[in-house]
Amino acid sequence: MAETQKATVVFGVLNETSQDETRVALTPDIVTRLKKAGVSCLVQSGAGIAAQYTDDDYAKAGAEVVAADDVIARADVLGFVDRPSAETVARLKAGTWVIGMLGSFTDAAYVDALQAAGLVGVAMEKLPRQLSSAQSMDEMTSQNSVMGYKAALVAANAYGSFFPMMTTAAGTIRPAKVLILGAGIAGLQAIGTARRLGAVVTAYDVRPASRGEVESLGAKFLDLGLDFSKGQGEGGYARQLSAEEQAAQQTAVDQKAAGFDVIITTAKVPGRKPPMLLTKAGVDGLKRGAVIVDCAASDLGGNVEGSRVGTQVTDGGVTIIGAPYLASEVSNTASNLLARNVGDVLAHFVHDGRLSIDLNEELDDALIVAGRPAAESKE
Ligand code: NAD
Repeated sequence: MAETQKATVVFGVLNETSQDETRVALTPDIVTRLKKAGVSCLVQSGAGIAAQYTDDDYAKAGAEVVAADDVIARADVLGFVDRPSAETVARLKAGTWVIGMLGSFTDAAYVDALQAAGLVGVAMEKLPRQLSSAQSMDEMTSQNSVMGYKAALVAANAYGSFFPMMTTAAGTIRPAKVLILGAGIAGLQAIGTARRLGAVVTAYDVRPASRGEVESLGAKFLDLGLDFSKGQGEGGYARQLSAEEQAAQQTAVDQKAAGFDVIITTAKVPGRKPPMLLTKAGVDGLKRGAVIVDCAASDLGGNVEGSRVGTQVTDGGVTIIGAPYLASEVSNTASNLLARNVGDVLAHFVHDGRLSIDLNEELDDALIVAGRPAAESKE
């Protein structure tokens, strides 16, 4: 079909390539929603199966289920939970759009590769999350919320006692004492879930505004006795602490942590290595059987000294679970939320059955555009 005759934008989704990924960037109900916005969908056969969406479900919703080669050859725009691999980038034709977590804060070489290939990137991590018009597009909010919920369940599962107080014929069991470090989207969801399981929950965040949010969920705010009244930086996010502030925070957290049975950490600063909140001394001070779930664990390190993706048990009997992938463990609903985010981003750029870059639009900062004049690009 000639380019000028296209009545709709063609959106394609491939199987995710990263090993532990079970989510998918398009779900059947979003296929229907996108059709109304002038978008037709191509789905690689099997792309949704790990999230319980069959090829038949997609076909019934009006998508075409095809082989990966067809998606790559025919799609005007592709959506990813994560981002296209280098091999996929090399196979996409110039002018194709890619929407995903493109790693633009930390991976300049990848951004250069997208531009060199002549692709148009929409970096989900750079959407203006505070704008009300962008809230339905905010993948970090939807997925961090799922992650926080699951982190509390993973911690409860690994813990060798109950979260709630239990009165039994054989005696009364005291409730677990849970500490949440980082009370943003994920942390607040972890607080709510741990409380619903009956734990006694305390939480801490460097942003002064978080005290009220923590207390409104019925948790106690952990007072470290440090003045972080300027702990909030641009855009409502935490600012990066100075080396001295970090050291003082670590000492205080290490000391306070000793009284807790379970610690869930979710602290991040956008575009930076996650802050280390609990050092080895703090971990060694925990009692045998304590459980830590570090949602910030990554190749760059996490919120807990020595944490890495996966489970380890220290000589002192403390289980440390490095778990940045937890949204993937709630793959069905996490995919549905994520697909809504990606679908709304895509619909934003569709005008008259075509993809269009409008440089005056609110989402401009999230665009990575090949050959874009330097004067128009923003940090
Ligand atoms: P995030 O994932 O970047 O960070 C998680 C939490 O870690 C944050 O609450 C942060 O303050 C905290 N943190 C960072 N460094 C810390 C440290 N050294 N010690 C303790 N805690 C530390 O952020 P997020 O959860 O996505 O969002 C954080 C805040 O951003 C929200 O609570 C909100 O104020 C704002 N936000 C607003 C909107 C909106 O308006 N729609 C959307 C998203 C986020």
